[in-house]
Amino acid sequence: MDSINIVWFRRNLRISDNQCLYRALRATKKIVCLFIFDTSILSKLQPGPERRVSFIYDAVERLKREFRAMGSELLVYHGNPAVIWQRIVAEYAIDTVFYDVDYEKYSVQRDAEIELLFDSAGIRTGVVHDHVIFHPETVNKDDGSPYSVFTPYSRKWMQRFVERPPSEFDSETGLAGSLLPMQAMPMPSFESLGFEYCEYATAESAIRLEIFDNYHQLRDRPDVDGTSRLSAALRFGILSPRKLVMLASQRSPAFLNELIWRDFYQMILFHFPHVEQGPFKPAYASIEWINNEFHFERWCRGETGYPLVDAAMHQLNETGWMHNRCRMITASFLCKHLLTDWRWGEAYFASKLTDFETASNNGGWQWAAGSGCDAVPYFRIFNPELQRKKFDPIGNYVKQWNVKTHTTPLVEHEFARRRCLETYKKALYGSQ
Ligand code: FAD
Repeated sequence: MDSINIVWFRRNLRISDNQCLYRALRATKKIVCLFIFDTSILSKLQPGPERRVSFIYDAVERLKREFRAMGSELLVYHGNPAVIWQRIVAEYAIDTVFYDVDYEKYSVQRDAEIELLFDSAGIRTGVVHDHVIFHPETVNKDDGSPYSVFTPYSRKWMQRFVERPPSEFDSETGLAGSLLPMQAMPMPSFESLGFEYCEYATAESAIRLEIFDNYHQLRDRPDVDGTSRLSAALRFGILSPRKLVMLASQRSPAFLNELIWRDFYQMILFHFPHVEQGPFKPAYASIEWINNEFHFERWCRGETGYPLVDAAMHQLNETGWMHNRCRMITASFLCKHLLTDWRWGEAYFASKLTDFETASNNGGWQWAAGSGCDAVPYFRIFNPELQRKKFDPIGNYVKQWNVKTHTTPLVEHEFARRRCLETYKKALYGSQ
C-alpha cells in the first residue's frame, strides 16, 4: 500500500492560502485531511447553548462539503486526539503529518504527546506557524531577545513586512487530483458533542472593504458599526491573516496596527508561557483582590449600575462579541473598581466570546489589570461615566442593549479609584 500524507486541520479551517495543504501538495503523495473535536477541550465547556462550538461546527461542515466536491473527504472525529491518532496510525501507512503550531499550554502538551507516537511509528511531521504573519522568533530585538513593549515590536514587525511582505500560498491548484479519493463519511452530529446549537450573529467571515475607509475614526465607537467583526474568522483561520494584512497595508494603517497587536500577543504567549497562569510582571501577583462573588455575578449579568459597562456585558452575553473599547472598560472596571482578580474576568470572557483566543484575551486582561507587558499603568483608572460620554455620546449603544440603569452603582467611582490605588501601591511598593 502506498503511504499517504495527512493534513491535520486544527485552527486554519480553510482551503485557500493554507500552508499545510501547500506543503502537502508539494510532497507528491496522496493527501488525507482530518479534523478532531477534542474532548479534552470540549469537556471543560458548560453544556447547553454553545456559540463557539456552533461556529466551529459550521466551519468544519463547510470544509467537509468542499473536500467532498473534490471527490475526497474531511474525516471528522470526536474524542481524545492521542487515542484517535493511535487508531489512524494503525489504519493508514503514513509518511508525514502536517499541522499548524498552537502556542497554548494544552496544545503544546498534546502535540508533544502525539509527536512521540508519530516518532515511534516512523512518521514524519511537517510543522508550520500559520496562525501569525511572522514566527514569534523572527521579530526580535537586535540582541535576539523577545520584545515586551508593543511600539518597538511593531516597528520591527513593519520593517520585516516591508523587506519581506508575506505572500499567499497556492494551496488550491492541483488539490483535487492530490487528495485520496474517498467515500462520504458521516460527521458526528452536533448534539453528540454535548451542546445545543446557538446562533453567532456578530461573527463576520467576509471582508467588508468599506470598513477600512473610516476605521481610524470609528474604531473606538461602540455605537456604530465601525470595526470588521472578523475576530472569530481570524481565530479559527476561516480567513487568511496574510490576505487581510496585505489589504490593510494598502488601505488602513490603523487596521494594520491592530493585526500587529494580534501577532504581538501570540509572540508574548510563545516566549512567556507563564502568562497563562499568572501576571506577566511578577510584582502584580501580590495584589490583594477582594473577589466579592456577589459583585462578580452582577458584573457578569451587566448589573453594575454603570450603563456602559452593563450595556457591554449584555452585548457579550447576548451575541458572543463585545466591542474592543468596551472590552477594555469592562475589564478595567472588574479589576480596578471591583478589585476582582483579572483571571475571573478572563475566564468569563473565554466562556462567552465566539472569538476567544487565549493570547489576545490574556493580553487584553493583563493590559487592563496593569500586570501585563506594555499594560496601562496601574494609576490610570478609566472613569466609566466619562468613557460613556466620550464613546457613546448620543447614548445609542446603551439604548441598543436596553440597559435599565440601576439607581445604586455597585461602587462609587471616586471611592473605588482611591481604594484601587491604595491596594495596588501596597502590592507594588509595600506601603500605602
Ligand atoms: P477590529 O477592530 O476589526 O480588528 C481587526 C482584527 O485585529 C480583530 O479581528 C483581531 O483579530 C485583531 N485585533 C484587534 N484588536 C486587537 C487587540 N487589542 N489585541 C489582539 N488582536 C486585536 N481578541 C480576540 O480575537 N479574542 C479574544 O479573546 C480577545 N479578548 C480580549 C479581551 C480583552 C479584555 C480586550 C481588551 C481585548 C480582547 N481582544 C480579543 C481584542 C479585541 O477586542 C478584539 O479582537 C476585537 O474587538 C474584535 O473585533 P473586530 O474583529 O471587529 O476587531
